[in-house]
Amino acid sequence: MKKTNELYAGKAKTVYATDDQDRLIMYFRNDTSAFDGEKVEKLDRKGMVNNYFNAFIMQKLQAAGVPTHFETTLSDQESVVKRLEMIPVECVMRNIASGSIVRRLGVQDGMELKPPTFEFFLKNDALHDPMVNDYHIESFKWATRDEVARMKELTFKVNDILKQLFLDAGMLLVDFKLEFGRFQGEIYLGDEFSPDGCRLWDAQTRKKLDKDRFRQGLGGVVEAYEEVAQRLGVRLPA
Ligand code: ADP
Ligand code: UDP
Repeated sequence: MKKTNELYAGKAKTVYATDDQDRLIMYFRNDTSAFDGEKVEKLDRKGMVNNYFNAFIMQKLQAAGVPTHFETTLSDQESVVKRLEMIPVECVMRNIASGSIVRRLGVQDGMELKPPTFEFFLKNDALHDPMVNDYHIESFKWATRDEVARMKELTFKVNDILKQLFLDAGMLLVDFKLEFGRFQGEIYLGDEFSPDGCRLWDAQTRKKLDKDRFRQGLGGVVEAYEEVAQRLGVRLPA
């Protein structure tokens, strides 16, 4: 497979078209951003760690019956994926309250959410990713009612699979964000799953092992991502 042209450079990844019109190459850069791109830094090894981490998680999800865009890793920082027609919403699942829900609803950080709660956000940095609901998504034709139902169903399924996977490795899956897209009439999980797009706490100490280390200036960002990878058994180059 050969890269042809760069399609777009997002905040953390660059996406290339290939000589196969149904496949893309995702290049995981070392760039790390927060607050809708206001805080940006390059962190050594982050692209590589996230590329292998994402590959590991996507393969687990695929094996458990979640259709994902992931096909194969191509190099330390690149993976081949199906070219999806992305749906411009983010699906957020929360098992424990933290981050924006705490600010919005004034609930206690760390509060367990039973049942877990689900939120949609519009993917739009200029508008600061506002929260939207099923009706907005249907009215503005970002997705159909069936697609909305499928995205929710798959997000809950991903939660069931990954909550247990992380717990078995001594971590709490606090929350996470997923993006979906269309491929040959079906909904597939796209983008990435890595500590950049979820919250993970050590189950005993509640130490943060995710991008909050970057957002909050706690340091040891990539070290924490590598610790998560190592606990799960993700193999990383030395
Ligand atoms: P952002 O857009 O949030 O800055 P990234 O830097 O991660 O994020 O950019 C990756 C872009 O690629 C995102 O816009 C994402 O929606 C898009 N994308 C992810 N997976 C696919 C796919 N399989 N097909 C097409 N686009 C994808
Ligand atoms: N998230 C993400 N991209 C976004 C917004 C959120 O990956 O554009 C992830 C974030 O890392 C967290 C979860 O989604 O794991 C919920 O994020 P929240 O709404 O709490 O927003 P935050 O306070 O993290 O900006």
